Amino acid sequence: MTTAARNIAILGSTGSIGRSALSVVGESDGRLRVIGLTAHSRLDDLCAQAKQFQPPWLVVTDADQAAKFDWSEKPAKSQLLYGQDGIETLVGQPEIDVVVAAMVGSVGLRGAWRALEAAKTVALANKETLVMAGPQVMELAKARNAKILPIDSEHSAVFQALQSGRREDVKRVILTASGGPFRERSSQQLAEVTVEDALAHPTWSMGPKITVDSATMMNKALEIIEARWLFDLEPDQIDVVVHPQSIVHSMVEFRDGSVIAQLSPPDMKLPIQYALSYPERWECPSPRLDLTEAMQLDFEPPDEERFPALRLGHEVAAAGGTTGAVLNAANEAAVQSFLDGQIPFTEIVPACRSVLDGHHFEAKPSLEKLIELDGWARQEVTRWVCT
Ligand code: NAD
Ligand code: MG
Repeated sequence: MTTAARNIAILGSTGSIGRSALSVVGESDGRLRVIGLTAHSRLDDLCAQAKQFQPPWLVVTDADQAAKFDWSEKPAKSQLLYGQDGIETLVGQPEIDVVVAAMVGSVGLRGAWRALEAAKTVALANKETLVMAGPQVMELAKARNAKILPIDSEHSAVFQALQSGRREDVKRVILTASGGPFRERSSQQLAEVTVEDALAHPTWSMGPKITVDSATMMNKALEIIEARWLFDLEPDQIDVVVHPQSIVHSMVEFRDGSVIAQLSPPDMKLPIQYALSYPERWECPSPRLDLTEAMQLDFEPPDEERFPALRLGHEVAAAGGTTGAVLNAANEAAVQSFLDGQIPFTEIVPACRSVLDGHHFEAKPSLEKLIELDGWARQEVTRWVCT
């Protein structure tokens, strides 16, 4: 039996996840069809992707860059839209089945939100969407009967492991963390970390922002918050274990003590493909586990003294309300300040802590309030950096 191709739009197609998603499309034997691609910069890459995949829609979010670019190579059939409005027009197109949310940062929220409003399935890489507005986003998905399928490898693993038992029998989830490039560094050595050091991840190849987040372990903090809302878990049901090989992508422990894990070599194409093929499974171009070779899997508890971001993750997952949006924006701004050489690596998390502690908490904020706080938290980091 042949099934109709799934029509997808990729928000952030020039990024690390976006490019992997397109390679999954390329290997899908026509089961996936690209309807729209979006990028903020690197427009020559966007144009090359358009030539290869011939999407009816292209969106450039940075209108100034779009105005300066020579579009003579763009396929005639690809209509060009601009800015956030362009994203919202794209994701509402009736022929789209799945929106891959793969922009980086809080700018990803509105596109994912609009896609859910239009009852599309959202394949979610942009964890910031759930960190900022988890309860609101999950409520919207429920109201529109729209699915959110995780691309983040840990959450994909949990999503897969959850299928082996009843929801009410889940004891806890255990998110694995590679520990990043500085797993074995002392606090003193962490103070000397350069931008180049922080951008060299031992197991995963990713965009710069999430690579720095992996080095501070803020990425795992954001993932604790993401898991809390995505899987409707209590904050104390989410644990983190450091697993440097990044083979076990996460685990679910059930009431009887059984722990179900998902394993594969670290390659984002597998969780991306699963979100796009679900509930089917397809042959995948990612490397496979080779158990004929000797292999070691290590697990150790995380060190919250050297990586205090983890504490922030647990706190924000427990507090909810406005805290996720504030932590996320403060972290984005602090990471940018680090990448710009304005603050040392070890100041990223204290900057986040300071901004989080200084904000006026609200338990049930509106989406507008969260977006306002996103701007406020960024300004607070700028003030913090300048003092
Ligand atoms: P990236 O930096 O490689 O790519 C980001 C994409 O977003 C690019 O297409 C870029 O043009 C677009 N973009 C950047 N700024 C924008 C703006 N202001 N407005 C609109 N679009 C903008 O990032 P990435 O590593 O692919 O990560 C994308 C998302 O996926 C992030 O939320 C990240 O946390 C999540 N994620 C990534 C990985 C990974 O392996 N890279 C794994 C899990 C989750
Ligand atoms: Mg992850």
